[in-house]
Amino acid sequence: MSDLATRVSDTQAILARIAAEFTPAVFASSLAAEDMVLTDLILRAKLPIGIFSLETGRLPKETLAVLDAVKETYGVDIALFRPDPAAVDRYVTQNGLNAFYDSVEMRKECCRIRKVEPLGHALAGKKAWITGQRRAQSSTRAELAVQEDDPAHGMAKFNPLADWSEAEVWEYIRANNVPYNALHDRGYPSIGCEPCTRAIQPGEDVRAGRWWWENADSKECGLHVVDGKLIRIKSVAA
Ligand code: SF4
Repeated sequence: MSDLATRVSDTQAILARIAAEFTPAVFASSLAAEDMVLTDLILRAKLPIGIFSLETGRLPKETLAVLDAVKETYGVDIALFRPDPAAVDRYVTQNGLNAFYDSVEMRKECCRIRKVEPLGHALAGKKAWITGQRRAQSSTRAELAVQEDDPAHGMAKFNPLADWSEAEVWEYIRANNVPYNALHDRGYPSIGCEPCTRAIQPGEDVRAGRWWWENADSKECGLHVVDGKLIRIKSVAA
């Protein structure tokens, strides 16, 4: 069996186990390349795992186009969770539309309103959630386990692609004609909100285009942190 076939088979087994043992479970898709691999695996296998995305109100049009591509390819609507409009209004009125450039604190507050709070709503009542994070994506993800305890949300958290390389992600996408975000072909290996993401140069770290004005250790959106600090999530046997 090729390396990719082994990865796929292992990932299918993890997803099937989540569906069998952690219902209701949900997959938080950022609509990035990794997330499209998981979307494809979940939908092809018709697993009872809901798929949602956080529509922050600042996503690039290319990311929003992926929602239509998923609908066209699989006939499935990805559920969207949006921020509280009153909280967004308050932040913008008090600080300005793009105050996240001013400090890490202001950036984290914007992420809290537009991502962390909606994530809490999306995860309410679930037994587990799934992400497309990979260990090789950044220094903040170097210790990422396939299965973790997520004390912040009181449930299990799975990163089925933790061991996958970027090359394997793209090999899977191309081999299976999986739809993907057009920005990936324009120098964006990692894609978030439009004002907080830019293209990178060859050889740069894959997350160098995310919050590029901050230092590498603060580059997480808060979905995987508590009180502004990275959670040292306890790994458990997969
Ligand atoms: S990525 Fe940028 S625009 Fe999006 S929620 Fe975070 S700070 Fe706000």
